Amino acid sequence: MLETPRHIVQQANAAPDLPSALAIAVSQIRDTLRVSACTIYLAGHDHREWVLVATAGLNPAAIGQARLSYQQGLVGLVAERQEPLSLQDARRHPRFQITPNAGEESCHAFMGVPLIQDRQTLGVLVIQDARIRQFETEERDFLVTIAARLIGILRRADLSGGAQDLLNPRAFGTRPLLGLAGAQGVAIGTITIPYQLTDLDDVPDRPTSDPVAEETSFRAAIAAIDEELRLASEQLAPLAPPTEQALFAAHRMLLHSDSLLDETSARIRAGSWGPAAWSAAVLARARLLEQTDDSYLRARAKDIRDLGRRVLGHLRGGAAQILAALPDRCVLLAQEMSVGQLAAVPPERLAAIVCLRGSTSSHVAILARAMGIPAVMNLGDQPISRFEGQDIIVDGYEGRVFVNPDSAVRAEYQQRLATEAELIAGLGKLRDLPAETLDGYRLPLYTKAGLLSDIPSASACGADGLGLYRTEFAFMIRESFPTEEEQFALYRQVLAAFFPQPVVIRTLDIGGDKSLPYFTINEANPFLGWRGIRFSLDQPGIFLTQLRALLRANAGLGNLRILFPMITTAQEIDEALRLLDQAYRDLAEDGQPAERPQVGVMIEVPSAAWQAAQLAGQVDFLSVGTNDLTQYLLAVDRDNARVARLYDNLHPAMLKMIAHVLAGGQHAGRPVNVSGEMATDPGAAVLLLGMGAASLNASPASLPRVKWAIRSVTRAQARRLAEQALALDTVNQIRQLINDVLRQVGLSEIVRETS
Ligand code: PEP
Ligand code: MG
Repeated sequence: MLETPRHIVQQANAAPDLPSALAIAVSQIRDTLRVSACTIYLAGHDHREWVLVATAGLNPAAIGQARLSYQQGLVGLVAERQEPLSLQDARRHPRFQITPNAGEESCHAFMGVPLIQDRQTLGVLVIQDARIRQFETEERDFLVTIAARLIGILRRADLSGGAQDLLNPRAFGTRPLLGLAGAQGVAIGTITIPYQLTDLDDVPDRPTSDPVAEETSFRAAIAAIDEELRLASEQLAPLAPPTEQALFAAHRMLLHSDSLLDETSARIRAGSWGPAAWSAAVLARARLLEQTDDSYLRARAKDIRDLGRRVLGHLRGGAAQILAALPDRCVLLAQEMSVGQLAAVPPERLAAIVCLRGSTSSHVAILARAMGIPAVMNLGDQPISRFEGQDIIVDGYEGRVFVNPDSAVRAEYQQRLATEAELIAGLGKLRDLPAETLDGYRLPLYTKAGLLSDIPSASACGADGLGLYRTEFAFMIRESFPTEEEQFALYRQVLAAFFPQPVVIRTLDIGGDKSLPYFTINEANPFLGWRGIRFSLDQPGIFLTQLRALLRANAGLGNLRILFPMITTAQEIDEALRLLDQAYRDLAEDGQPAERPQVGVMIEVPSAAWQAAQLAGQVDFLSVGTNDLTQYLLAVDRDNARVARLYDNLHPAMLKMIAHVLAGGQHAGRPVNVSGEMATDPGAAVLLLGMGAASLNASPASLPRVKWAIRSVTRAQARRLAEQALALDTVNQIRQLINDVLRQVGLSEIVRETS
């Protein structure tokens, strides 16, 4: 054989677009296996037919034209059985059907291999030969290997609507792109790609009307970066190690590489604007290097990308310029979104967020819920660079978006927005009423926040206090660790905004999917790694700074409660309390006013849940973090969309574990709060009330609905629900039971939203 599957896919990967990638793949496969034809069929829209999308050996005019009905023919059979099929003479098989106008009349031997992703057949890869012969096992293995690799290429392309997207990539509008419902709500807005902070891959395609001016600014950006690098290397020369200095030299050489500059200029002259021309040239170069077998060259790909981002940043101008160009109703769209990107858009202009990766329990989704903006996650690979500036409807209930919606879809969603506004206006009346059951039991209902910009809406949503302030978000949007003074000012502001109501501030919980741009942690399993309190205890300097700032902020106010995240052992609590004592003593010695707060720990790990009674005895309160507890109990990565369907905080084992924690708290005489997203779901909130939670935390946007649900039941009804739910075996039965209760008490509106 001439080429290995890996080499073929590498060459296909370097192609500029999907049709060319598939064309390369089929022609290489045909030549390598020395067969008459190699063809790829992909599922058409709605899975009604198979469309021939690439061929080497059959009639090229059939590409995009030849179609086979879905359940017929040998292609349909391979897809249906989801396994390879090899025939000496296809024509003798009862399912044989000729592909119209494909020119396969002279073919006899046939082998088809399904292209499967997430249990679904996306397409079929076929080889055919004019001879009547049996394909060898070796040929079969070759085809199966290459099919698995082709899936990667298809996944990265824009194929949510099947073959149509390949043939007619702009056919969006009435057909939604499907993802996961990250934060409830509907928004209509304009797509904005925060690419200046992300990656070269996301730079939108835009034409230029003045290539000469565009090229001049491009050359100016190169000169400016060159000067920056020269200066930096000069300044660092006495300090930096030789390897660091060599890097500057390498970057400057790359910057002046003719191929990179010439290719960018050629693209600009062909009509592209500078940022897209530069990114395309950089990416083409980086991808080529990434696919080589040489580890030195692969490492250079990273240098090229770094340099690419640097020049791109320069081409885009400063933050003020970017901000001024933002549309009024921004829908941020990115592969993965950082908290910094979210925070960069003024809240009044941020309509929704859409991410190609991540899942409903990723922190960006949680932040969106906290901010009350709809979010759709895990849209899969999309050509987002083409989307910038287009209209979009984001449906955060169903987890779908419409790019460039047509008028009928738009009218339907405008109607939904109006209905939603009515419901919210109705709920507004509950703002100043307590979360009190029909029989007069008052449940403290707190809210949550993560950024300072959330505080006004959080303190105005009608909550009894702030049940969770996640300090890591403030750390994540900065360039370096905040100082004690900066933290003091921030915490003081948060405490003052809610005073005299209680405010629970959680110490730094980084790690997992929350990373600091200035403190990289590289781990194979970050969710099982250096997270939360583990990090803080190992970095006492950072931890003590935070504790000092918190104790000082509490002086004279006294409404602070400190919460430690990711506790797994009793010893961690002892150590954290010891450091808290030390911070207090140090402040006293320095003569700084400080006030000791109540202290609680989060129960987010099964080991802590099992030990709840003992841990509760060490502190003043417990707070169940259902987001992480679900992840660790069910062994489902909260950030992994592939297993998102398994992630459910209503899992019967979760209910039993929460019941165990509540019993532990009761045994130790300590209140147990519920803090994860589970408590923002009105039905689950009623269940938690019935199970005996002492208080709940809901995001500002969900709080009115949770309050409405609590105010619609008696405590006895909630207890009965809890008793019955704890006896059930599946999530579906539990969800069904909750919905039945909600309907009985007149909350059908909420059932409709959540089911
Ligand atoms: C939780 O795990 O439920 C929680 C509240 O913490 P976070 O979502 O920030 O990890
Ligand atoms: Mg957590």
